[in-house]
Amino acid sequence: MPGMLYLCATPIGNLGDMTPRVVETLQSVDLIAAEDTRNSIKLLNHFGIRTSMTSYHEYNKVEKADYLVEQMRQGKNVALISDAGTPAISDPGEVLVQKCQGAGITVTSLPGPAACITALTLSGLSARRFCFEGFLPSDKKEKAQILAELKEESRTILIYEAPHRLVRTLGELYGALGDRRVTLCRELTKRFETILPTTFGEALSYYEREEPRGEYVLVVEGKSLRQKEEERQASWQSMTIEEHMAFYEEGGMDSKTAMKQVAKDRGMAKREIYAVIHGAGMQ
Ligand code: SAM
Repeated sequence: MPGMLYLCATPIGNLGDMTPRVVETLQSVDLIAAEDTRNSIKLLNHFGIRTSMTSYHEYNKVEKADYLVEQMRQGKNVALISDAGTPAISDPGEVLVQKCQGAGITVTSLPGPAACITALTLSGLSARRFCFEGFLPSDKKEKAQILAELKEESRTILIYEAPHRLVRTLGELYGALGDRRVTLCRELTKRFETILPTTFGEALSYYEREEPRGEYVLVVEGKSLRQKEEERQASWQSMTIEEHMAFYEEGGMDSKTAMKQVAKDRGMAKREIYAVIHGAGMQ
């Protein structure tokens, strides 16, 4: 019988958040694959877990996943833990899960802490529709593309950031998205947990005086439908009626439908649009 992979979520700060099921699983598996064995040993010692550990991180994830899959094929049960929180959420895990699926090995997940969900619930921003961005890419071109996509995003956006890059990221978000509401969630579940509902502009002035410290999740308000509509209106206002008609016709609309749409966009009557295009008095 092959073994199984258990994805085990571990605390993001407060050890009281370790679930009994994760403790039992870490005690009973044959091997724990940990992102940072030096950090995880403290967690395991705290809970009296003596299972042996092996490292599984960003830089060995491909070869190590093959090794772990082989162990499971031979009947061993393996648990995966990341440095903190839920494995595979901005942490290595994905590759191992894919390889297990490819090898027909059962994977199960033991849910628990994740900084993004904890932050979302505390943000005071809409939790009805949200998207998780994780860390913004460091590559300039890739980042510019993601920021352009985020500008139009109407769902609440969750972003991870390290303290030394916080100000730069807030500045880049401000530049790309304009000023928006953002809730800065710092040191979640820890002694100095701080939730700061603010805006990009205010946050940037605040961090001119204060040095960012600790771990952060940024919860950014999505673009509102009203904002989208205002932008749409503004773009029509900079066009002439002829340009506005051409915009729809070049997009494949017939002229009758385009005229109806232009009239609707501009809050005008169809005959007024007709008069401009065909010259007044020709109706
Ligand atoms: N797997 C983790 C999870 O489930 O949230 C995320 C790991 S990712 C490498 C680390 C980032 O998560 C940090 O840079 C920070 O943005 C966020 N994070 C982790 N713990 C946090 C905490 N206690 N408070 C605020 N943010 C935290």
